[in-house]
Amino acid sequence: MTGKNSVYGTPRPANVPTFPLGACVGKAKLMNPRPDNPAAVLHARQVCWGCPVLTDCRAWMSTLTPRTDPGDVLAGTTHAERTGKDPDRRVCRACWLVRPRDKFSLAGKHGQRAVCKSCVAASRPTGSPTSQRAEEAA
Ligand code: SF4
Ligand SMILES: [Zn+2]
Repeated sequence: MTGKNSVYGTPRPANVPTFPLGACVGKAKLMNPRPDNPAAVLHARQVCWGCPVLTDCRAWMSTLTPRTDPGDVLAGTTHAERTGKDPDRRVCRACWLVRPRDKFSLAGKHGQRAVCKSCVAASRPTGSPTSQRAEEAA
């Protein structure tokens, strides 16, 4: 995550932490791939997957709102996945992993639950019928 509002760019907003050991240091262009270039997006994700501060970065990412999100690839996720604008994938608000949309239950007339089916199943007592159905669907 390295755009002008990024961890390493300047100016840096007060809500953006510094991760000196981040694998994206010095890789601003790589971490801001065009959304229509899957290979470039994957390359940016791979930088995060090998990052020594991925856990800390993901914890910070979990505190972001669409308004405070600085953009770019961050903790292995794209801006569209974090803000719910990607038609195929979204970030689970419990495990903070990118999951296909069919791994989230529908919620009411609009949209989907923010937590994936696996996390919903894991939060229920094991052996309950509801838990088993959720696990089968995940
Ligand atoms: S997880 Fe990704 S965005 Fe976060 S510091 Fe590491 S390389 Fe940068
Ligand atoms: Zn989840």
